[in-house]
Parts: sequence; C-alpha cells; structure tokens
Amino acid sequence: SKSLGRGTYVIFDQSMEQEASEILELERNLRTAIQNDQFIVHYQPIVDAATGKVEMIEALLRWNSPNGILSPDKFIPIAEEVGLINTLGELVLNKACEQTAYLKATTGAKFITSINVSAKQLRQPHFTNNLESMLHKYDLQPKDVQLEITENALVEEVECITNALKEIKTLGIRIAIDDFGTGYSSLSYLRKLPIDLIKIDQSFVKMLPNDEEHRAIIYTIISLACSLDLEIIAEGVEEKSQREILLSMGCKFIQGNLISHPVDLESIKLILGHTSPK
Ligand code: C2E
Ligand code: CA
Ligand code: CA
Ligand code: CA
Repeated sequence: SKSLGRGTYVIFDQSMEQEASEILELERNLRTAIQNDQFIVHYQPIVDAATGKVEMIEALLRWNSPNGILSPDKFIPIAEEVGLINTLGELVLNKACEQTAYLKATTGAKFITSINVSAKQLRQPHFTNNLESMLHKYDLQPKDVQLEITENALVEEVECITNALKEIKTLGIRIAIDDFGTGYSSLSYLRKLPIDLIKIDQSFVKMLPNDEEHRAIIYTIISLACSLDLEIIAEGVEEKSQREILLSMGCKFIQGNLISHPVDLESIKLILGHTSPK
C-alpha cells in the first residue's frame, strides 16, 4: 500500500543517512590515523607443505587504533570508497619493503615478502615507477617481493590491469592471484596474464578434508595451475588433516593458523631466524 511504501522509504532514507555519517566519521579517523602513523604491518609465514620451511611471508595491514588493533576488513573497503587506498597502499609498500630489508639483514634468511595491492593502486599511472624506486630505496632485489591481487580485481578494467601487471612482471617482480576460485576470471584470460602463482581461497580449504565437492574443486585448481606452470598456495590451513590432503594433491605451499597466525615484526623475525641456515 501507499503508506507502507512511504514508511519503507523513510526508514531506508534514515539508515542511508546514518551509514553516510558513519562513513564520514571513519574517513576522518582514517586520515588522523595516517597522520599519527597508527598503521602497522603484521606478517604470516607461508611454508613448503612438505618440509615446513618458511619460503614467503605475507604482509597484512593492521590499524593500531586507540581502541585496539583493527583488521583490514574493517577499514580497507572504506579506504577504497573514500579514495584513501592509494595512500594506505603506499604506506604498506614502504613499511613492508623497509622491514623486509631489516629482516633479511638481521636473520640472513631467504624469503619473499608478499604484499597485497588493490586494483585502484595498480591503475595509478606511476605505480610501477614507485615500486621500482621503493626497491631501490631499501636496496632490495625484485625477487625479494611479490604482489597479491585478488581474482575479482582482475576482471575490472581488464586492459589497464593487464598492462600494469606486464610492467610489474618486466621488473622481475612475481605476481600472485589472491582468493582464487571466488571470482569470475575465465581460464583463457588467466592464461594471458603474466602471473606466477595462485592462492586458493580459504573458503575451499575450510571444507577439507571430508567435503568431496570442495576436494574436487581444489584438485581441479591444482591441476590447472600445474598445466599453466603456476605455483600454488593454499590459504587458511588450520588442521593437520588439511595439510595432509593438500600435500597429497600436489599443493606446494600452505599458509594458515596451523603454521602461525599473522604476527608482529619481532615475532616474524624470530620465526625466520629459527628456520634460517645460519
Ligand atoms: P587475504 O589477503 O585473503 O589475507 C588472508 C586473511 O586470512 C588474513 O586476514 C589472515 O589473517 C587470515 N587468515 C590467515 N590464516 C588463517 C586461518 O588459518 N584461518 C582463518 N580463518 N583466517 C586466516 P586479515 O589480515 O584480517 O586480512 C583480511 C584481508 O584484508 C586480506 O585478505 C586482504 O584482502 C586485505 N588486506 C590485508 N592487508 C592489506 C593491504 O596491505 N592492502 C590491501 N589492499 N588489502 C589488504
Ligand atoms: Ca592476500
Ligand atoms: Ca586470500
Ligand atoms: Ca580474502
């Protein structure tokens, strides 16, 4: 009826307004946090599933706010929306590179630091140049870092993203597709992209080992990766039984709470030092 329609409209309008003011407040807080240097990077080891050796570490952004440490799911989407993602992305890149140099110097370990980048960042015209000067600034080699981009980010503005990835690849930096299996990229498209590895989304891993359907999906992804000569990381591994079945299906690398939660800089330093040859 008419009155119901109007009533519904009013409620909708109020919640929209509330949401808008919440976003405004979060935006203000984000800007203050950037000024006050409240962002830190935590690291999660990625290990060889067979040997347990740490081969890579993933840089994961945290907001060390007055109300405690906030995870990126709480603020990255807003940062994307209000145009702060490039600033945050730059900040992560800088910290992750600086800390990678520090970790290499102090532990002597060999590892790759994997850094998440959003599609918006990749579309900046100077992204590759910035990346190159960042490596130079901290005296890092291109093979010391790799970039993670979600499968979903690949399907928007395909041409622009593809060109950016090619430029990055030319520098000698490895590229990973994150959250693989949750997006809509076609296999033929995947074949054309200059990627080095695929990260199987944790929603598939979570259902292992007993769910037959998810086992089949993972096996298909691993076979696909093999035939395209790509490396594979399974994310969100929490159980020994999950590691076992992934290993038996030919998955080379695993990451998840079974190995270690994401930890702060000094803790990842201990983990890396422990597994280094010295
Ligand atoms: P992601 O890249 O898929 O990162 C993996 C997420 O899974 C991380 O959440 C990690 O803490 C969590 N995780 C790791 N092992 C396990 C496990 O065994 N079980 C479960 N349940 N979860 C596990 P986190 O750190 O909260 O990050 C959430 C998302 O935020 C990331 O998902 C990534 O998309 C985004 N993100 C994080 N840092 C950055 C960044 O610097 N830049 C951008 N653009 N996005 C970032
Ligand atoms: Ca990631
Ligand atoms: Ca992921
Ligand atoms: Ca994710």
